[in-house]
Amino acid sequence: MADSTRIDEVLSTLDAELPQALERLKAFLRIPSISTDPAHRGDVRRAAEWLCAELAGLGFEASVRDTPGHPMVVAHSPKGTRRPLLFYGHYDVQPVDPLALWDRPPFEPEVQDTPEGRVIRARGAADDKGQLMTFVEAFRAWKAVHGALPSDLVLLFEGEEESGSPSLQPFLRENADELRAGIAMICDTGMYSDGRPAITT
Ligand SMILES: [Zn+2]
Repeated sequence: MADSTRIDEVLSTLDAELPQALERLKAFLRIPSISTDPAHRGDVRRAAEWLCAELAGLGFEASVRDTPGHPMVVAHSPKGTRRPLLFYGHYDVQPVDPLALWDRPPFEPEVQDTPEGRVIRARGAADDKGQLMTFVEAFRAWKAVHGALPSDLVLLFEGEEESGSPSLQPFLRENADELRAGIAMICDTGMYSDGRPAITT
């Protein structure tokens, strides 16, 4: 039976596109979106706008939505017949103090070879810009193979996770109809161990 997901092609597209995907992630990592520091307020918005532009370029109906704090980014793929699948992530990052503990500038990402394999060194690479770009790149590869995005996706990104998410609950309540989903994937959790990703239910 033919595999209608063509998942092997999607995965090989992801592999083939890895260099470009890394460049996109590095561009995202260069934005110092530190949500707890008022001096970086403009950078936090710039990260939201960068993400929104990436999603719009992929064909999502994407928008930067103001809140009393930092903005949300919300994106929808075309509506189909299924209950939506929601992906959550955050585009803000933790502060970088004390800088002396860094062996390189935190917003100049670099891929390094380590005994544990290749890693990306930059603030936010492992929390949460790297994680959220995994599914953005997955949708990109899906579209390259299928010619269209998967339907019934809702993407929600906040810029306040590292400062206590004060706007998240009010935003969810105010936009409950728009954000209602059958399953929510919270893409901001831990790994079971190095080299062993986890899905926590
Ligand atoms: Zn996080």
